[in-house]
Amino acid sequence: MSEMASHKKTMRQFRQKRPRLKLSAEEYSLLRKQALQRDAWRCQICGSPKDLQVHHLTKRSRLGDDVLDNLITLCAPCHDLQHRPSGST
Ligand SMILES: [Zn+2]
Repeated sequence: MSEMASHKKTMRQFRQKRPRLKLSAEEYSLLRKQALQRDAWRCQICGSPKDLQVHHLTKRSRLGDDVLDNLITLCAPCHDLQHRPSGST
């Protein structure tokens, strides 16, 4: 009887939400750097070397993985456009 009670308690302790598999900040910054280097530190749309950011081709929420193939180097303005349904320019 008491054994069961203690078992239940243990189960509850381990019933925390499982964290999503995610890269650490360090690993992610390394991956970003790899993407930038692969793209020669240039925006892959307009070729600008300024305000570079790394864009996820497939959003993380749509099974986009944190892998090099899913990343592309864009400058801030081009990156911004990627996240807008339609540009005003
Ligand atoms: Zn650009």
